[in-house]
Amino acid sequence: MAEPKKRLTSTRSGNRQSHDALQKKSYSVCSNCKQSVVPHRICQNCGYFKGVKIVKLKDEKIKEKKIQEQTKDE
Ligand SMILES: [Zn+2]
Repeated sequence: MAEPKKRLTSTRSGNRQSHDALQKKSYSVCSNCKQSVVPHRICQNCGYFKGVKIVKLKDEKIKEKKIQEQTKDE
């Protein structure tokens, strides 16, 4: 197996590890429901992006199905 040719000083490993710190995540606020959201992504809470409804949420889909079933029965 390959072995390191020279001993790595603590300074050298410290200098390398100075870039290893985790970055703090940035969040923005949803324009529709005011919840914190990941920027440039659809809001997970309400399905809006830039004030436009993009995605139907699970609850809304279930409600629509129920309404459709009710109208079929009549
Ligand atoms: Zn939202």
